[in-house]
Amino acid sequence: MNCEKCSKQIKQGEEMQHNGKTLCEDCYIDVLSPARGCDPWAVYTAKSFSGKDAILTENQTKILKALEETGGVEPAVLAEMLKMSPADLEREFATLRHMEKARGEMRDGKTVLCLW
Ligand SMILES: [Zn+2]
Repeated sequence: MNCEKCSKQIKQGEEMQHNGKTLCEDCYIDVLSPARGCDPWAVYTAKSFSGKDAILTENQTKILKALEETGGVEPAVLAEMLKMSPADLEREFATLRHMEKARGEMRDGKTVLCLW
């Protein structure tokens, strides 16, 4: 029996099952590990150790929460929801975009802010 991920031979009794795949112990730990490259939170965690701008302010936390709840919202509506001035919102949002936490996208010709 060989690992379906790294093709390494797995000793009898040490094979692991994950999503219908047979994996060796190393790969199994790897897929279960929360520190995967494709996980945005892992990226965030990694960045939080390397830059002071990765620490969220109260307003940034509110913005992310609102984006999560709404699934995407127009900047003016978000500013209204959070009782922030559009300029403040823009500044906080720029930081979040830089941190790859949130982004703007076009929906039906309108700019909508949403989670990254
Ligand atoms: Zn493997």
